[in-house]
Amino acid sequence: MDKEELERLLADKKSKDLPYTRILSSMCTYPHEVAVHAHEMFIESNIGDSGLFKGTKEMEDEVIAIIGELMGNSNAYGYITTGGTESNIQAIRAIRNSKRREGLCDMNIIVPETAHFSFDKIADILCIEVRKAGVDHQLRVDPESVKELMDERTICMVGIAGTTEFGQVDPIEELSEIAKDERIFLHVDAAFGGFVIPFLADRDKYKFDFTLEGVSSISIDPHKMGMSTIPAGCILFREESYLKELAVSTPYLTTKEQYSLTGTRSGASVAATFAVLKYLGKDGLKKVVDRCMSLTGLMVDGAKQMGIEPVIEPVMNVVTLRVNDVNGVVEALRAKGWEVSTTRSPEALRMVIMPHVTEEMVKSFLEALNEVVR
Ligand SMILES: *Cc1c(COP(=O)(O)O)cnc(C)c1O
Repeated sequence: MDKEELERLLADKKSKDLPYTRILSSMCTYPHEVAVHAHEMFIESNIGDSGLFKGTKEMEDEVIAIIGELMGNSNAYGYITTGGTESNIQAIRAIRNSKRREGLCDMNIIVPETAHFSFDKIADILCIEVRKAGVDHQLRVDPESVKELMDERTICMVGIAGTTEFGQVDPIEELSEIAKDERIFLHVDAAFGGFVIPFLADRDKYKFDFTLEGVSSISIDPHKMGMSTIPAGCILFREESYLKELAVSTPYLTTKEQYSLTGTRSGASVAATFAVLKYLGKDGLKKVVDRCMSLTGLMVDGAKQMGIEPVIEPVMNVVTLRVNDVNGVVEALRAKGWEVSTTRSPEALRMVIMPHVTEEMVKSFLEALNEVVR
C-alpha cells in the first residue's frame, strides 16, 4: 500500500470514530495542545528503560513531586502508570505483597459498592477477596458497613474521591480514622476526582488526600481531568517501602529494578503530563475545573426546569438524571447524535461534563433531551 492509499484508509477509519463534541459519556477528552506537542516530541521514549531516557526520567520525577504536592505530600513515591486500573492494581498488589511476606493468606479488601470495575479485575489477578460495602442515600460509602465487613484478614480499605458513576466523594476523613485505629492500609481512588476536588470552591468539605494521616496511597489520572494524552495514570504511596514491594530485578536494562506493571512504558505521555502541569499550573487547572463546574450547573438547572431531578446534587462535573425508561432515552438521544451513559444503582442517565463540552453543546443537548422525554 502506498502512503496516499494508507492516508485514505486512515481517514476512513477516523471518520467512524465519534468526535468528543458529541460525547457526554466519557471521562476522557481532547488532550491539551501542549500535551500533544510534548507527546510527539518524546514519541520514541521508553521510560521502562529509564537510564536511556534520562530527560524523560527527570520529567517523571518532577511530575510525581508536582502531583504529590497537589495531593498534600511532595515527598510521595510513585510513577506514571497506564491509568487508574494499573494504579489500583499496583496499590493493592503492594499491600498484598507486604502482608504475604508476613505470612498472611486468604486476604480480603473492602471497597465501596460504587467502586470502579477495575477492582473486579484485581480480585481475579491478585486472587484476593473484594468485599463491597454499602452506601448511604447520597451514594457515599457507609463507614459502619466497612467496619462490619472487616476481619483479621482485611489488608486494605478503599475510598473513592469522585465515583465513576455519580461523581460522589466518600467520607475519606472517617475512613482515615478507621485506618489509623485498625492500622489498615487505606487506598484512595481519585482517578477522576484527583484533578477536580483540589480546585472546587467547597473543596474543604471533601478532604481526601495525604493531609489525612490514614491515607496510604492515591490513584490520580492525568489522562482524565489532567488533559494529558492516553495512557497517563499516576500511583502515589506515602511510604517508599510500598513501591519497593513492587520491584523486580531487571538484569539487562540500564536500571537494576523496575516497579511498573508494564515493561516498555510510554515516555511520551510522561512528557505530555509534564507539559500540561508546567504550562497550566494550578491556576490553569482551576480554570478548567471552574468552567466544567459552571457548565455542570447549567445542565442540572436546565434539567430541573424540565422537571427532571438529579440523583445527587453534583459534587463534581458528573450529572446523573432520574428519567423513566433510561435505556430508551439513551437510544433516542443516540438517534439524535448524542452519546450518554447510564448508572447501575439507582438507574439514571449519566453525563460527564469534560473540558471539551461547551455552553452550546449543553444547550443543544438539553433541547434534545426535552424532545426525547416529552
Ligand atoms: C476511570 C476510573 C478508573 C479506571 O481508570 P482507567 O484509566 O480507565 O484505567 C478507576 N477508578 C475510577 C474512580 C475511575 O473513574
